[in-house]
Amino acid sequence: MNNRRTFIRNMSLLTAGGLLAGNTRFARAENHTDVTNFAALKDLGLQIYSLQNELYNDIPKRMKDLKDMGYINLELSGYNEGKIGQVDQMEFKKMADDAGLKIVSSHTNPVFKGLSGMEQFFPHYTKELLPQAKEYWKATAADHAKIGCRFLIQPMMPVIDSHDDAALVCEFLNEAGKICKEAGIIFGYHNHDLEFKRVVKPEDANKNPMPWMPQGDQIMDLFIAGTDPSWVTFELDVYWTVRGGNDPLDYLKNHPKRFTLIHIKDTAVLGQSGLLNFENIFQQMYANSVQYYFVELEKMPDGRTQFEGIKDCADYLQKVAFVR
Ligand code: MG
Repeated sequence: MNNRRTFIRNMSLLTAGGLLAGNTRFARAENHTDVTNFAALKDLGLQIYSLQNELYNDIPKRMKDLKDMGYINLELSGYNEGKIGQVDQMEFKKMADDAGLKIVSSHTNPVFKGLSGMEQFFPHYTKELLPQAKEYWKATAADHAKIGCRFLIQPMMPVIDSHDDAALVCEFLNEAGKICKEAGIIFGYHNHDLEFKRVVKPEDANKNPMPWMPQGDQIMDLFIAGTDPSWVTFELDVYWTVRGGNDPLDYLKNHPKRFTLIHIKDTAVLGQSGLLNFENIFQQMYANSVQYYFVELEKMPDGRTQFEGIKDCADYLQKVAFVR
C-alpha cells in the first residue's frame, strides 16, 4: 500500500518532458524507487574523460575499481596517433581486457595541419580541409579497428554561422561515416549546447511576421537532416541538450533510430541536481533500443575526486529501479 501511494505521488511529480517540475529537492528524493537489495550489478558504461588524470596513475588498479562499481563498457577519450593519453592503445586494450572492461566507443576530433590556437579545436571547415579530414578518419578508424572499438564519435562542433557552414560540416560527417563503415566502425556525432544555436538563411532574415518567435533552424536539426543514417549516427548528451534549451526526450522520440548512444550526465553526480528526469530518459532509451549509454562527469565540486564522483554515479544507477 505504501509502495502504491509512493508510486502515485511519484507519478504526479513527473512531467512528460525531460525535466522535473516543481520543487526539485522534493522531486529528487521522491522520483525513483530505491532498490536496496539489488542482486546483480547492472552493466554500466563510462566515458573515461570523467576520470581526467586519475585514471593514469595506476591504470590496472583503476580499471579493476571500475569493474567493481559495475562499469563494463568504456568510451575512450584522448586518442592520439595510436595512443590513449600517453599509453599505447594495444597496452591500454590489454589492461581493459584484463579488468573485464570492453572498449565500445571512442571520442576524437579530426586534427588539421597548419591550424593553431583555438582554431585547432574549433576550426571553420572549408572544402580545402576535406582531404585532411578523410586521411585522419582513415588512419583513426584503422587504429580503432585494431582494438575492436565499435563506434568512433566526433565530440566537438566546428564553427558554424550559417546554413552553408552546417551543410559543409554534414558533408564532412558523411565522408567520415563512409570511411569508418569501410573499416567496420560506426561513426557518430556527439552534441554539446552549441548545436542548439540557430542559424537563419539570409533570404529569410527580414521576413518574420512574429519577431518574438525563435528564428531560423537549430544546428542539431540541420545535422540530423543533413547526414545519411547509413553513415552517421548520433550520441545524445542529455545534459548538454537541456543546457541548450531543449528536451532530450523530444529528440529521442522524434528521431528514435538516429541516437544509438547516450551520454548520461548531470551537473555533477547523477540525480542530485533535479535538472534531468533520468527515469523518463531511460524509459525512452529502452523503448528506442538504444545500444549503449555512458556516464559522464565534469570536474567534481568541493575537492572530491573524480573517482568518488563516478562511484556515486554508479551507486545511483545501481539503486534506481528504472535502470535495468
Ligand atoms: Mg558528453
